[in-house]
Amino acid sequence: MPDPRRTLPAVHALLATVGDLPALPARTAARALLDEVRGGAPAPADWAAAIRARVAVDATPHLRRVINATGVVLHTNLGRAPLSPRAVAQVAAVAGSYTTLELDLSTGQRGERLAGVAPRLQTLLGVESALAVNNCAAALLLTLSALAAGREVIVSRGELVEIGGSFRIPDVISACGARLVEVGTTNRTRIADYANAIGPDTAVILKVHPSNFHVDGFTESAPRADLVALAHANGLHYVDDFGSGAMSAAPGEPTIHDIAALGADVICCSGDKLFGGPQAGLIFGRAAPLHLLRKHPLYRALRLDRLVLAALEGTLIDRERGTALPIDAMLAHTPESLATRTLALATALGPPAEVVPTLGLPGGGTRPAARLAGVGVRIPCASPDRLAAALRQAPTPVIARVADGALIVDLRTVLPGEDGELTAAVSAAWSGADRAAIAPGSG
Ligand SMILES: *Cc1c(COP(=O)(O)O)cnc(C)c1O
Repeated sequence: MPDPRRTLPAVHALLATVGDLPALPARTAARALLDEVRGGAPAPADWAAAIRARVAVDATPHLRRVINATGVVLHTNLGRAPLSPRAVAQVAAVAGSYTTLELDLSTGQRGERLAGVAPRLQTLLGVESALAVNNCAAALLLTLSALAAGREVIVSRGELVEIGGSFRIPDVISACGARLVEVGTTNRTRIADYANAIGPDTAVILKVHPSNFHVDGFTESAPRADLVALAHANGLHYVDDFGSGAMSAAPGEPTIHDIAALGADVICCSGDKLFGGPQAGLIFGRAAPLHLLRKHPLYRALRLDRLVLAALEGTLIDRERGTALPIDAMLAHTPESLATRTLALATALGPPAEVVPTLGLPGGGTRPAARLAGVGVRIPCASPDRLAAALRQAPTPVIARVADGALIVDLRTVLPGEDGELTAAVSAAWSGADRAAIAPGSG
């Protein structure tokens, strides 16, 4: 056998056969194919066709729309919140043109980048001052850099949390050039623990929402009102990393307005978790400390661009008007409200696919103990993982859950217009072969 690597065509010879394709993508595709064949893959019978196919695949953006059939509403890996029609329209209206980003139309002078969102946030939440940056992690980074660099930040040991991998409170504090002072224990921290830790270098008392876990049993934490009073009596700032927040009172949770009304200096929130809008970090609180944040050099590095500002302003206008956002309907769904659509999917698929109860999640590290009762379609099959993988390759990828030897499709998080695509994708992926492999009576 001749060594096939000896007989591989040269790149320039391959490119000559596809001269009508754009040069860089064609070269990239040809090189990748050659590398694969050198690595042991079979050589294509028709190199030109293979290069064309590869160029087409490479032109597909990595960031694509998917159908979320997991039942997890603020799914961080899937981009958390789908934007409302108004937010989408706002983005489309400013994306392809020049804008008023930093122009005041009435004076013709330089305008304020946050003019469309800061006043709306203040009125909507009833706070003195507001600021917006890239995300909640950025909000806390900016806050502690501006208020505590070179000084101490006091945090309860029960609140030294990790949220989503690289966001760990102790690491964030040291990245800001501040020193962490831990007080109390994992389950119990009292106001006296904070009071005893205050020294000449203390700058901030920080409270962190545990977000993605909760502690049961013998627990105790210092009330926010006491922490704010203690901070102010000692000339310190009180900072609250509230994360997901709660627009209207969730059980056992204060609202941002409640925390601001206590006199909190800075409250950091995650805009997508809080409002179901674009990724953003929202900072609320008193005017004086927020002014320090706004003047800090890091603010420029963390500020929002016009596409996010457009999406955020659209979302805030919806909130002002009480217009339901996509995530509101998803969070509100019940087994009854999902029944018709779910039954339609199960019927289209036929047995042994069946309607079963499901438990969705708010997601995004919000309300970790909460479960959202709904219904979904259970599709028993020989290899649910293979079915899930096939669905990810659908023209519009479908992301579903695998549980107990079956694929579970939860329509809670499927947008109303997506049912047809979903049904077509699941029917196609649940192919004859896989279906036939199911033993009678299984499922
Ligand atoms: C989610 C969360 C963050 C991080 O928010 P991002 O917007 O994802 O950066 C920070 N703190 C708390 C308490 C959170 O819940």
